[in-house]
Amino acid sequence: ERTEQTILHVSDLEKQFGGIVAVGGVSFEIERETITGLIGPNGAGKSTAFNLITGVYRPDGGTVYFRDEDVTDLRPNQLADRGLVRTFQISRELSGMTVLENMLLAFDEQRGESLWRSVLPGARRSVVSQERELLERTWEILELFELDHLAHEDAATLSGGQRKLLELSRALLTDPELLLLDEPMAGVNPTLEKKLLARLHELREQGYTFLIVEHDMEVIMNNCETVIVMHQGQVLSKGPPKTIQEDERVIDAYLGG
Ligand code: ADP
Ligand code: MG
Repeated sequence: ERTEQTILHVSDLEKQFGGIVAVGGVSFEIERETITGLIGPNGAGKSTAFNLITGVYRPDGGTVYFRDEDVTDLRPNQLADRGLVRTFQISRELSGMTVLENMLLAFDEQRGESLWRSVLPGARRSVVSQERELLERTWEILELFELDHLAHEDAATLSGGQRKLLELSRALLTDPELLLLDEPMAGVNPTLEKKLLARLHELREQGYTFLIVEHDMEVIMNNCETVIVMHQGQVLSKGPPKTIQEDERVIDAYLGG
């Protein structure tokens, strides 16, 4: 049920590809300042749900509310402006550019506008101060994920885990409230994974909200307050990890297999 703490509310979302129902009437709420896990077997519709929520796809039916606003028809950059961003299952860093350049480019990309929007007569000074702020924030985030020493390296030279961190860093740069992370731990080594999880908890305590698709059940069960289980384009179950682990339908459809 929807409460004051609800930051995201999706209602009866539907998406078909050709004749295939990828998402067939999905509804759920996400509470502010939580880490919620979205799990389910391959093909369950998790990535499609992410794409629908973040405006990458337009749904065939249903509604997405972000902070009580109907954002169903907004594009990704408009959502980023409002504080809703996502990362991708396959990270999309650009080779031939440094880590730092990737960060700065991401800002323009996600916002779909650039700081230059404010380059109007008389606005120069504010652009300079905005740029300085952006650079400071960029370095802060790179330090947070221990990427600062790699700032001037070609992004193509990063390890799989570091690419994941860069992807998350890029999303954070837009100063979002809600982040949707598609398999953030894939390819991340155990040491880095531990650090990344610690960072997520710190960020949650600072007021960020996370919805995470992750295959590693340990990660989901140990770090999420709430788990949503999808199966065949539907929500099969939703609840605290302990309840989910004992849910017969979930065990049959996913955990038992
Ligand atoms: P998950 O992320 O849970 O593995 P997906 O959302 O990727 O699931 O896929 C759900 C279903 O929709 C699958 O049957 C998949 O093959 C299909 N699907 C997803 N994206 C597309 C697409 N762009 N075109 C056609 N079919 C798609
Ligand atoms: Mg997927």
